[in-house]
Amino acid sequence: MKTRTTEWAERMLRKISEIASAAINRFSVPRNTISTASAQGHCAFKTAYEAKHGSPEFDFASLTRFRVGHAFEFDIATRLIAGGFVPVEPDEILTHPGPCFCGGGDLLDVCGVTANIRKSLKANGVLLPTEQLTLDIPADDIGANYDIVVKAPNGSFMVWECKTTEDTLTIPRDEWVSQVKTQLGLLRHFAPEGSVIRGAVYCRMGNSIEQDFEIAPPNEKEWADLKARAQHIAQAKRGEVEGAKEPSHFCGFCHAATCQYSPAGRAANSFPLPKDVQQAVENFITTKDIADSYAKEAERHKKKLLDYAGDERMTAKAGKYLVMASPIPGRVTISTKKLATMVSPSILEACSSKGNGYMKVEVKPLPDEPPASNA
Ligand code: SF4
Repeated sequence: MKTRTTEWAERMLRKISEIASAAINRFSVPRNTISTASAQGHCAFKTAYEAKHGSPEFDFASLTRFRVGHAFEFDIATRLIAGGFVPVEPDEILTHPGPCFCGGGDLLDVCGVTANIRKSLKANGVLLPTEQLTLDIPADDIGANYDIVVKAPNGSFMVWECKTTEDTLTIPRDEWVSQVKTQLGLLRHFAPEGSVIRGAVYCRMGNSIEQDFEIAPPNEKEWADLKARAQHIAQAKRGEVEGAKEPSHFCGFCHAATCQYSPAGRAANSFPLPKDVQQAVENFITTKDIADSYAKEAERHKKKLLDYAGDERMTAKAGKYLVMASPIPGRVTISTKKLATMVSPSILEACSSKGNGYMKVEVKPLPDEPPASNA
């Protein structure tokens, strides 16, 4: 149950989220008319649906996650300042000699820190992370926001897309790769000719593991594919075509009720799962089979130990292990059915508590297909 303090904190996060969403609308054309780098790896139908109907109302956990993401960008920006990189405004990064960077400062928007305030503080030696760089090519229906763009003294650029996740990853997610490749393609279009441009997803996994995944700029074919994809998404957003339905783990968060893969559609239908979820089912079965066979093996070894201990308490040494066996008395259980016939409902209710519910998942083999009839 939420306390008054957490309720208040959630309300404030919603307020902050509205201010933060202004920061992602700095394109030269309305955001809803082009595809953004972050949309490139998402389902086109969902992106267009949200452009038309608005994004779903995010829950408290999602809002908190977004805020942690902004705080992470801010953290990286302050490390750059500590490393001697000068924070510059987005319109300065392409021409500044470096070492410099822009971005990481969206956390400050809510405090009313504007470019003018940053500039006057900078004149007094106070360096603060700045707004994100935003680039777009409306003719190609494509645009991008950049968490952090770093420029080295030799004029080379590094794009860092900051991500926070609870998973421990060994390779970057596909949608991150298309996002960064789109950012790199756009930056190459605007940067001085011949500039070296590199990119990476800088990822914090869990609370303390950090890992960067380098992403190469798109080659000619990849860039053409990214622009074609942007065009499809933009056309879908503008309502000129229907966006392709591209099932993925995002379906779980989708509110496009008109799609069979949406939560509403999933509740009503039996249909093939997206490829990555199908793979997760196969991995689940394989690992569960292995875990079950190991669990049986462990039980067999434990039984030998129990047979030896008998019914007596025992403390012994086995190599580098201490072994303790002790009798545990049987648990007393109360039959609520029987009790209900003996006490009043109000007493029963006062003595009862309900645990949290949970989602049950079952995976069963499908029956074999009947043999094809020749009749
Ligand atoms: S449910 Fe999945 S496939 Fe359908 S629109 Fe949403 S994200 Fe796309």
